[in-house]
Amino acid sequence: MAVTSSSSPSMLLLRNFATVVRVSQSFRASSRIIFSTGESIRVLPQRSICTTRAAHNEEAAAKAAAAVADTGAPTIFDKIIAKEIPSDIVYEDENVLAFRDINPQAPVHVLVIPKLRDGLTMLGKAEPRHVEVLGQLLHASKIVAEKEGILDGFRVVINNGAEACQSVYHLHLHVLGGRQMKWPPG
Ligand code: AMP
Repeated sequence: MAVTSSSSPSMLLLRNFATVVRVSQSFRASSRIIFSTGESIRVLPQRSICTTRAAHNEEAAAKAAAAVADTGAPTIFDKIIAKEIPSDIVYEDENVLAFRDINPQAPVHVLVIPKLRDGLTMLGKAEPRHVEVLGQLLHASKIVAEKEGILDGFRVVINNGAEACQSVYHLHLHVLGGRQMKWPPG
């Protein structure tokens, strides 16, 4: 097969270099926060993650959602909490609701949300008064992992802000598992 200029080794090298530059340039501002069992907390370069998800429409949706994030408008999760629309609930207690993501990115993909938003449109809005509910969300994530049989290996993700592809402005933790996770995540 003929080697075209766009697939020649030098072109590939250039493209890889450009990717590295883009990734290092994007390591700032709003963040995607990922907790994995056995790993420390890391703040990842959000723009590169959006790109590797190859989700331009996801980015557009996230930007549109961010534009109304501070209006306090109800979100789809309010309807789920009120049981006005159906959801596949995995765990529920007085403060927390956990239900399966409608667009799963892993065999197990559960969203864990506070029942009372109380200004927590995103993690970046957290204040000292939220400390208790933040702990409850993490603990509920562990309960979900246990119930789903993925306690030995799971990942908890919070997308924070448009540049991290957050699309629903009601704080939520993604609990992902049931397959081998990659690092860095894509
Ligand atoms: P994020 O992009 O981090 O804001 O995550 C929002 C998540 O909510 C996405 O993974 C969506 O697939 C999920 N989602 C949106 N609507 C629903 C719904 N009605 N039921 C379950 N998950 C939903």
